[in-house]
Amino acid sequence: MRLYEYEGKEIFKKFGIPIPKGRLVRIWEEARQAATEIGEEVVVKSQILTGGRGKAGGIKIVKTPEDAEKIAQEILGMELEGYKVNSLLIEEKLDIANEMYMGVTVDDENGVPTAIVSTEGGVEIEEVAKRNPEKIASRLIDPLYGIRSYEAIDLWRQVGLTGETLTSASRILFQLYNVFASYDARIAEINPLVITSEGKMIAADSRCEIDDNSLFRHPEFKDLHIQRIENLWEREGVKGGVNYVNLEGNIAVMANGAGLTMSLLDIIKAAGGSPACFLDTGGGLSKERMKNGVSLLLKKAISDARIKVILLMVRMMISPPDAVAEGVIEAIKEVKVKTPVIAVIRGREPYQKRAQELLKDSEISLYSSVEEGIREAIKIAKE
Ligand code: GDP
Ligand code: MN
Repeated sequence: MRLYEYEGKEIFKKFGIPIPKGRLVRIWEEARQAATEIGEEVVVKSQILTGGRGKAGGIKIVKTPEDAEKIAQEILGMELEGYKVNSLLIEEKLDIANEMYMGVTVDDENGVPTAIVSTEGGVEIEEVAKRNPEKIASRLIDPLYGIRSYEAIDLWRQVGLTGETLTSASRILFQLYNVFASYDARIAEINPLVITSEGKMIAADSRCEIDDNSLFRHPEFKDLHIQRIENLWEREGVKGGVNYVNLEGNIAVMANGAGLTMSLLDIIKAAGGSPACFLDTGGGLSKERMKNGVSLLLKKAISDARIKVILLMVRMMISPPDAVAEGVIEAIKEVKVKTPVIAVIRGREPYQKRAQELLKDSEISLYSSVEEGIREAIKIAKE
């Protein structure tokens, strides 16, 4: 999950990394007031989840609060690099003497964090690596110890820093590593790290990405992450612990495990059918997730007339499938829809029989043969 610049900077602040004075505005009417509070000249920065905003025209330096308002009016609601601008960060304008770079990310090859510093910032670090590799230094960090002060100092020394600058830059790198580790980040980056004409060092930008697999450890971001999923059905899916992807066809498909779901889509296509979605409940299927997945498809069928049939495929050898059947029953009790539901539920005995027993009196057509289930779904879809 990528964070907005302003969110990254709030975290930086908590960890002691200096950031510019600034205010977030969501409506242009607030821009003039914000600029007045911050100082005469300000920088108006579009908050979108991508870099390169400077080049794309998403960052403007303005001389008066009136201009800040005018620019805010222009940029808010605009589409930039494929993202809609919903908020602006209005910040004090820095008097830039020098732009540097620092980042901590995961070195995939070694499976440990790596810290990267450069005396050339404000441009993409990949470009610096090509053009001026001598201006970059990096080193792998032992995640059990975290970065040690001498490692941070050594890195900045390698690119030529000395004195006061060396001390400040090393301290900020140490703090940035702590941000990276505390938030289970995939990347925590300051580009540019600005040195002002008065010699102050300050994080003028932030880029932080939290590893989605760790979101359960950061509940405040987990909720945000869900809110930010634009597609309603994908969002419903994530809420219910299942993976939903929209497709073009008319057979709503759900199975347990991404591999099984994908294979099922292939088979349906090969047999002349057309899947309306990919819904994977994940492995180790529980009654709850089964219920969430089926409810999602039933609701989708209500709102989307294209969907002619729902096909559920559950194959489990380890956990008993009768709990899964209960999940299906609860879902169809709660969401009433006429769309036919076909289920193929396969598992170990005696659970499979019990699952069949449970579904016997429901409106669901239960098949024990995969081929028959698919054939029937395609037949209904074509009627
Ligand atoms: P990005 O292009 O999305 O990475 O956005 P940045 O926040 O890094 O801004 C891009 C560039 O705008 C920076 O490299 C700076 O050169 C410039 N910039 C950003 N903030 C300020 C500021 O406060 N004062 C000045 N003079 N330039 C700024
Ligand atoms: Mn930047």
